[in-house]
Amino acid sequence: MPISRVVLCLFLILPPALSGQNSVRPAAAGAAAAADQPTDAKLDHFDPDLVDKSLSPCDSFYKYACNKWIAANPIPADQVYWSTGSGLEMWNDTILRETLEASSKIDSKRSAVQQKIGDYWAACMDESGIEAAGLKPLQPELERIAALKSKPEITLEIARLHHLFPGAWEQSDNQTDSPFFGFTGQQDYDDASKVVAQIDQGGLSLPNRDYYLNNDEKSVETLKKYRVHVQKMFVLAGEAEAQASQDAGTVLELETAMAKAQMDNIKRRDPKNINNKMSLAQIRELTPSIQWDVYLKAVNAPASEHYIVTSPDFFRAEEKLLGEHPLEHWKVYMRWRAIHEAAPSLTKAIADEDFDFFAHTLAGQEKQLPRWRRCVHAADRDLGEALGQAYVDRAFPPESRARTIEMVHAIERAMHDDIETVNWMTPTTKEQAMVKLKGIEDKIGYPSHWRDYSSVKIARESYVGNVEQASSFEFERWVAKIGKPVDRSEWTMTPPTINAYYDPQLNTINFPAGILQPPFFEKNMDDAVNYGAIGMVIGHELTHGFDDQGRKFDAHGNLRDWWTAEDAKQYDDRGKCISDEYTQDVPDAGPGVKQNGLLTQGEDTADNGGMHLALFALEAELKKQGKSLDDKGADGWTYRQRFFLSNAYSWCSNIRPEVARLVVTTNPHSMPVFRIDNVVSNMSEFAQAFGCKAGQKMVRANACRVW
Ligand SMILES: [Zn+2]
Repeated sequence: MPISRVVLCLFLILPPALSGQNSVRPAAAGAAAAADQPTDAKLDHFDPDLVDKSLSPCDSFYKYACNKWIAANPIPADQVYWSTGSGLEMWNDTILRETLEASSKIDSKRSAVQQKIGDYWAACMDESGIEAAGLKPLQPELERIAALKSKPEITLEIARLHHLFPGAWEQSDNQTDSPFFGFTGQQDYDDASKVVAQIDQGGLSLPNRDYYLNNDEKSVETLKKYRVHVQKMFVLAGEAEAQASQDAGTVLELETAMAKAQMDNIKRRDPKNINNKMSLAQIRELTPSIQWDVYLKAVNAPASEHYIVTSPDFFRAEEKLLGEHPLEHWKVYMRWRAIHEAAPSLTKAIADEDFDFFAHTLAGQEKQLPRWRRCVHAADRDLGEALGQAYVDRAFPPESRARTIEMVHAIERAMHDDIETVNWMTPTTKEQAMVKLKGIEDKIGYPSHWRDYSSVKIARESYVGNVEQASSFEFERWVAKIGKPVDRSEWTMTPPTINAYYDPQLNTINFPAGILQPPFFEKNMDDAVNYGAIGMVIGHELTHGFDDQGRKFDAHGNLRDWWTAEDAKQYDDRGKCISDEYTQDVPDAGPGVKQNGLLTQGEDTADNGGMHLALFALEAELKKQGKSLDDKGADGWTYRQRFFLSNAYSWCSNIRPEVARLVVTTNPHSMPVFRIDNVVSNMSEFAQAFGCKAGQKMVRANACRVW
């Protein structure tokens, strides 16, 4: 998905650099021994016998439900975190691998889709071919940069960099790393039926501005290591040591200046702050050093009614920087970005150095994923809807889809009843909320029509070439939307993705087939288990439509205030309870590291709402079957207990401290322990399930409730 689209998803999405292969996934999972064998795929299944009965559920429910699993499942060396969902990722990767391998066999009967994914796979797996080519695939770009003669010529090279590398368009909650700035087609905030051009801040290579600007000891040390990394990469690209050292200094100077100019991620959460409309004339005036007409022509941008400039201050500062620094400095920066973006697709020495800083130093990953898994993730990123077709055929039977749809409808009914009964909303706002709820489109498993990749040329000969082809296609696909009607059927996640999202401008909830698998969804488990795991996920996405960001959009996806002033105030008070509660210490990330509840407020609201809605829906379903939440199943646990245990189980995780730190700084999601303990401590239904009493940790005196 392109830059700065407000899309609200379920998981910790780590910055792409961390996977060593620009994966959009949460930390990719691998087999314990990182063995190169797909037979290692093992799905985790909910098992209430795993609870640690030596602990009290009322002290920390997460520990009670997860401690045994956590102790038995250390993080493999090629991972940065490891959760009950990690076995599923391995399982999904294995299916994709089998599809890719089968398609890679040269056969005149291959379909166009098979040719593309098969040849992509063959080129990615051809390590000796990649070694033999060395830097050659990148050489034309480096030469083009070296040949620039004047500052105005920079613009055309920016357009090239935006085309060539996935960094420019890839999905991330706080995407600010596109070289110089970001550009894409985006639904207009005020009229969601239109697609207009959006110009976003950008320029950074590290995960976000804090990495350049914080001056605590740890941050200063990381930045020093980053400088050494940039220098090493220049040397690997053929520069002499002294030159490389000087160039690394230039990169740091320019990126730090761009970081200073960027709007921070808390301010960016309010869509009003980024909805700055400008005419082309105003943009030309804002940043005259960028030749906007040249740029727009080079990226084939259709005319736009107006342009959304997310952060005019950033562009003012960038204009100043472009004036102050000589052309030579910008050439160094562009050379760095070209090498950096291509690194995972280049030789072992370059890919290893990239891994060493971006995955090892920044995230604590000890070892790279095996080649085959990196190639699976790259194929999923670059040709996701071609590869996804076979995944759906093999892993997502119609019964799974039918049962998911039933659950989604049950949870939507629960939301309907909740809106109807809440006592803090007036009838006027309730009526509007109902219109919005009714307007939500449910998208389950996979898109109704598959993306056409026929214009993407994939060849067995050049892996870098294939990545560039696919990146160009994806970048231009988004740009081409400008001025065209909105296509509500599109997905921004691929079918095998283990994640889910709400899109406030399309007003859709989306659940890829990849997450509709154990331990999140299990055909053979009872409703209590499924509602606790995937039910909470469905409720979470639905609640995003009504969290502190989502509530600002109407049923059609327009940024429009449909709340009475009185109800908005009531909402904000409830939201503040959540953000205050979640402004808390994060011991897993290191001493003194604090979560900012304002950054995570939307996700936390969705977690809390999701659990309430899933529980209400389960209660209604059980009622239909003549059962109640407090009836016991065969194993002696009540359905209410199984619901909470299954939910906690689906979040059991081990996380490296480096990643915990990164998540706290950059990510709008809370850590798994808080996604369980904070939520249950806000729910009297939980205290009832496990007999917790006032004064115990899982019974919060000042319990928060929005939905
Ligand atoms: Zn979410």
